[in-house]
Order: sequence, then structure tokens, then C-alpha cells
Amino acid sequence: MKIHEYQAKQLLSRYGVPVPKGTPAQTADDAVRAGLSLGGFPVVVKAQIHAGGRGKGGGVKLAKSEAELKTYVSQILGMQLVTHQTGSAGQKVQRLLIEEGMKIDREFYAGILLDRAQSRNVFMVSTEGGMDIEEVAAKTPEKIVKVAIDPASGFQPHHARRLAFALGLSGAAFKSAVTCFQNLYKAYVELDCSLVEINPLILSGDKIIALDAKVNFDDNALFRHAEFADLRDLAEEDPAEIEASKHNLNFIKLDGNIGCMVNGAGLAMATMDIIKLHGGDPANFLDVGGGANATTVAAAFQIILADPNVKAILINIFGGIVRCDRVAGGVIEAAKTEHVAIPVVVRLEGNNAELAGEMLRDSGLNFIVAGDLTDAAEKACAAVKG
Ligand code: GDP
Ligand code: MN
Repeated sequence: MKIHEYQAKQLLSRYGVPVPKGTPAQTADDAVRAGLSLGGFPVVVKAQIHAGGRGKGGGVKLAKSEAELKTYVSQILGMQLVTHQTGSAGQKVQRLLIEEGMKIDREFYAGILLDRAQSRNVFMVSTEGGMDIEEVAAKTPEKIVKVAIDPASGFQPHHARRLAFALGLSGAAFKSAVTCFQNLYKAYVELDCSLVEINPLILSGDKIIALDAKVNFDDNALFRHAEFADLRDLAEEDPAEIEASKHNLNFIKLDGNIGCMVNGAGLAMATMDIIKLHGGDPANFLDVGGGANATTVAAAFQIILADPNVKAILINIFGGIVRCDRVAGGVIEAAKTEHVAIPVVVRLEGNNAELAGEMLRDSGLNFIVAGDLTDAAEKACAAVKG
């Protein structure tokens, strides 16, 4: 789960991570008032969207006067902000964060995430802050210093000191960084984050401050944090994914043209792989779960068909607990109610698979019945080619 920068900063500041003084605003009047109440200039106007790279896209501006503040607020609020993370359509800015402008002496990067290969959290810092960290990782990986943390003993003061040394800090700045890193790590663990990223983390005088903040929560731990529900901003999420979550469907939109409807996450991934193997492109990942009945299949059809790129659908259901003939009944009923007009390749395997095939063939609808997984993938790839 993603949250906005202003929410991330509020959370981190409760853990003692220094952040600039600031207020979120949803209207231009509130934003200007918030800027003036900071008691001086410069004031930073920051677009709040769930994507990075806002600065380059024109979503972060430093206002040196009241006139500039008003100009930037009206420019950014409501704009369609395009960054390297939003795609070409961009994301509409519905919220701003108005902050005191900080004097920047140095810009660093700090990030914490789980390294699955090591089964450990990794705390990373770099002197190359304020820029695209993926680019630093690709071109000058030696400039990223990583510390892996043993889950049994946790984050130790020596870890924090090693990271602060890596940034070339000394004296009061060094102490400020050590405290900041300890607090950041505590927040990462206690809030069940999957990512905490501060880019840039700045040195202002002898103080370390989080100038930007990105916090993602681990979805598998959300049940432990009922309070996070209020932090969710549905306007930032894909409408199809929200719709899917209402029906307990696991759906992730992709860029291809073959819609996938599968039961079980593993089989769904295998289905996407085999489509790729035969030269096709999946339009989505969709796990309908155990109960592939008419209602869930209809919801799945709706979600898949809402994507105009979809030119064919591949249904791949393994009837282990669920019976294939019942799934076929659900598919036929749902295809009728949803008026599915594009080719639908169906591969049902398991209990009563033969009966299911007969039902699909006799339905009078335009199903393409497939045998094994390879046959299904070939038929789906042929169907989108026309
Ligand atoms: P991002 O582009 O989405 O990562 O947004 P950031 O929050 O990182 O802001 C982009 C850039 O704006 C930063 O790297 C800074 O260079 C600049 N910036 C943000 N806040 C301030 C500030 O208070 N003072 C100054 N001088 N620059 C700032
Ligand atoms: Mn940033």
C-alpha cells in the first residue's frame, strides 16, 4: 500500500525523524494561507501524487514571494502531472504539500527495504542524493553503501555509525544522522513497511532532515494496522484494482492484450509465462480464487473487459476442489449477462473436465475450447492476431 509524502512525513516525524514544517492543502486558498503562515520565504509547493520524479515533471517549485506562491499553487493544483513513474497520461494533482524552504548544504539518499535473497532488511545510503537512485545503481553502484541487518539482533548503533561515516559526516551532523537512521529503522519495522525511501535526505547546517519521504506498507501486515485505512487515497489507485479488491479478486493490470482469468496465483503466473512463451502479451494478472462461480466470473469479465486493450480472454481453471462443469456453467452464464463479444479461450482441467467442454461447445456461444496449457496459449495468441 502506498501513501502520500505528507502522510509519510507525519508518521516519520512521530518517530523523531526531522522533516520540514509543512501543511497539506486541497484548495488553492488553503494552500496560500498555509504558505503565508510559515512566516517567511522561500516556501516549497509540492504536488502530492503516488509517484516519484515530481520535481523533474514540474510538480515541485520553490516560491520566493507571495506572488510566486500563488502562481505555483494555481499551476500545480489540478495539473495532470507526468513523471517517469506515472506513464504518459500522468496523474491529476488533487493535493499539495506546502513546506518551509530549506537551505540545502548536501543531498543524500537513504532507503530501507527487504532483500529477499538475503532474507534481511537492507539499509542503503548514498552521497548521490536528489537524483534517480536507479541510475546511480546502474552507473556507479560503488556509491551506494548497504548494510544488511540481522533480524535476531536488529539495527545496532554500529550500523547507524557505519552509514553516517559512509556519507562523510562528522561532529554534530554525524550524530544527527545516527539518530535519524535509528529512528527511520524503528519506523520501518514498527509500521510494517515494505519500503522507506528518503531522497533527498539533506544536510542543512549541521542537521539531517528528510526533505522527501516515500513509505510503502506491506499489504500482508495491514491487518495489524487498522488505522492505515484512513491513509488510503483511492483517487491514486487503479479503478480496476479497487473494483477487483471488492470482489476478493487478486488483479494487477498489465499492458498486453490477452485478458487472463485463472484460479490460483501460481497457475495465474504460469499462464502469463506460457502466453509470453508463445509470443503473446498478458493484459493482466487475475486470480479468481477458489470459488469460480457465475458471480465471481461475471465480476472478472467486467474488470477484464473494462480495459480497451483486451482483444481476447484466456480462462484457465483447474478443477481441484471446484468442479469444471460448475465453472463452465458460471462462465456461460456470465458470458451471456456480460455480452462478451471477443474470443474467449477456455481451458478447464480436473473434475468433470469433459462434461465442461461439452457444455461450452453446446452453449451456442463463441468459446474456443482448449485442451492443455500449450494449446490454450496458442489459441489465445492466434485469437488476438485476428
Ligand atoms: P521528487 O522529485 O518526486 O522526488 O520530489 P522531491 O521531494 O525529492 O523534490 C524534488 C527536488 O526539489 C529535491 O530534490 C530538491 O532539490 C528540491 N527541493 C524540495 N524541497 C526543497 C527545499 O525546501 N529547498 C530547496 N532548495 N529545494 C527543495
Ligand atoms: Mn525525491
